[in-house]
Amino acid sequence: MVSRIELAIRIGVFLLVLVGAPLFFVLLFRTLDYLAMDDVIDEYREGARATDVGRLNARYEGADDGVLCPHCGAANGEDFRYCHTCQADLGAVES
Ligand SMILES: [Zn+2]
Repeated sequence: MVSRIELAIRIGVFLLVLVGAPLFFVLLFRTLDYLAMDDVIDEYREGARATDVGRLNARYEGADDGVLCPHCGAANGEDFRYCHTCQADLGAVES
């Protein structure tokens, strides 16, 4: 004959093993997935290409004095000697 307290403990352990342990691993892997920072890794992997394409492109893309890089197509200022994205020579005349 199993007492009521022992039955409660057994059900508690049963639920802990059946629900608690899988839930713990699901949460653990979700947390590791969240901490992986894939965006940062991709940005680092692309190297110099990803460093400041957005900001300088946005500055010169709409401007009519922008110069498109013949190598990579990024928008550069007209006085830029080298492309800010791929460092190709733009042949700008120094003043
Ligand atoms: Zn370029």
